[in-house]
Amino acid sequence: MSAPLEGKRTLVTGASRGIGRGIAVAFARAGADVALGYRRDQSAADEVIAEIEGLGRKAVALAADVRDLDAMRALVQGSVDALGGLDVVVANAGVASRFQPLHEVDPGYWQRVIDVDLGGVFNTLHAALPVLREQRSGVILSISSVAADACGANGAPYNAAKAGVNALTQTVARENAELGIRANVIAPGFIATDMGEALLEAHGELILKSIPLGRAGTPQDIGELAVYLASEAGAWISGQVFRIDGGALGASARRVV
Ligand code: NAP
Repeated sequence: MSAPLEGKRTLVTGASRGIGRGIAVAFARAGADVALGYRRDQSAADEVIAEIEGLGRKAVALAADVRDLDAMRALVQGSVDALGGLDVVVANAGVASRFQPLHEVDPGYWQRVIDVDLGGVFNTLHAALPVLREQRSGVILSISSVAADACGANGAPYNAAKAGVNALTQTVARENAELGIRANVIAPGFIATDMGEALLEAHGELILKSIPLGRAGTPQDIGELAVYLASEAGAWISGQVFRIDGGALGASARRVV
């Protein structure tokens, strides 16, 4: 039996660390070649390239800020050039660093989160869709968060941006289904990454105690779901939001991620 993503050409934004890295490596283990988008940390991206090449797959890292549509068009074209085409696109890059009630939120921080977490997904899909539509195939995965539904206190910009990602991606699924393009959302709960560390600092151990399965999620946990959804096993799945959170949604009224 061949690997689930054998020979697939994939692009993952925010792949220099955290969840994006976990998805990129899981894709490579599943047989895919990977273009890695990142913003500033070239050495971290180089580490991921080495890990993927160690698995016998092709990898290329391209710097592009997801807030810049022209840069995202260049990232998509660079991925197509390097890998020989594009089959799977993962809009993963995101930020969250401040946790405050809405009346204390600095408007500049609001705008930054909306621009990266929601605008970045718009730019990624806007840049990639012409390629997928032209070839009449492709899979899109957006990474939102259980925060989109849980609407925990002190996370208004992030909660709103992630709810937008859910709506935007489900709309894209409907607009492109007749061309054979699928689009789904992965909505993680608390995952042990740099962003996860910031959440732990802000909210303490309460986050971990609210997870019925008894541990934080890992980038690998998200990578496994991403492989399934990107593969032929998920051929009849589109327009859905998949929560992956150790059973936590609804377990606590004070959800924060
Ligand atoms: P992370 O460890 O902080 O990594 C963020 C990644 O996004 C990095 O590769 C970073 O690149 C990239 N990035 C940030 N701003 C960017 C920009 N403007 N343009 C291009 N790339 C940019 O975060 P993570 O925990 O892996 O989160 C990944 C995604 O999962 C995010 O969308 C996040 O909202 C979502 N999520 C995370 C959790 C969690 O608990 N960790 C839970 C639910 C959802 P550089 O290093 O080059 O800056």
